[in-house]
Amino acid sequence: MIRNYIELTVEETVDDVIQKYKEKNPNTCTCARCRLDTMAIALNNLPTRYVVTNEGEIYTKVAMDLVGGRAQIVAAILNAIKIVQSNPRH
Ligand SMILES: [Zn+2]
Repeated sequence: MIRNYIELTVEETVDDVIQKYKEKNPNTCTCARCRLDTMAIALNNLPTRYVVTNEGEIYTKVAMDLVGGRAQIVAAILNAIKIVQSNPRH
């Protein structure tokens, strides 16, 4: 099957980034709507990278090719958190 590697990484990373942000900003909302809005904004600001997965596993070569990509993803999520928290739609 084909998946967007960036989307998978955002899914894996978003909760960690929100939790760390919340440690410094205790009023941060972590409801499902704010989490999804954060993911949508982050993904709209990131490129797409489609990969072929094998039995649910993503080829590690793709991850190796994206060195530095994770920092870009964390930055996009942080930016999205600030946008969502300043104008929450829940
Ligand atoms: Zn919320």
